[in-house]
Amino acid sequence: PATAQLVASRVLDVPDFPKPGVVFKDLMPLFADGAVFREVIDGIVEHHGRESFDVVVGIEARGFVVAAAIAYATGVGVVPVRKAGKLPRAAYAASYALEYGEATLEVHQDAFTAGHRVLVVDDVLATGGTAQATLDLVERAGGTVAGFSVLLELSFLNGRERLDPRPVHALLTV
Ligand code: 5GP
Repeated sequence: PATAQLVASRVLDVPDFPKPGVVFKDLMPLFADGAVFREVIDGIVEHHGRESFDVVVGIEARGFVVAAAIAYATGVGVVPVRKAGKLPRAAYAASYALEYGEATLEVHQDAFTAGHRVLVVDDVLATGGTAQATLDLVERAGGTVAGFSVLLELSFLNGRERLDPRPVHALLTV
């Protein structure tokens, strides 16, 4: 579809970032192009339907950009899932394994109204560790996950399997 091609046209492959052997998908050119960014946001909203969620969660940091735009476009609020130690009030924490070591994400304990349907968004789905931890946090904080959406899915890393059975949508899958 047209949005997949738009995403493909604005991704740069950066070899050996953040470490040797990794090819990082850089979406900054997409964010920087106003017309493309708007089409991409509209494409996500259209896929889910603007009545299908009550709040949008963005994962630090590139997820914030996507989440804020979807929230503004649909008139819902935005909730941040942040790296450890950034949130000022009582938070739930979820840790997950990285290739070396681990990472922790947090969400405010009072972030959600009970039963609110939550659309979780990020820029890229890779191994799914980040998304899995976020979905866990949303559910612990009383939200109901309506779906998970990314601009780009790296399917060879099988992240989608870790999110099963929740609906996962990617504008472009490579
Ligand atoms: P995962 O936890 O699925 O392995 O990694 C996804 C998280 O790391 C997302 O928050 C995403 O922003 C970031 N990430 C991992 N690989 C890439 C990449 O190639 N490009 C970008 N832009 N982000 C990535």
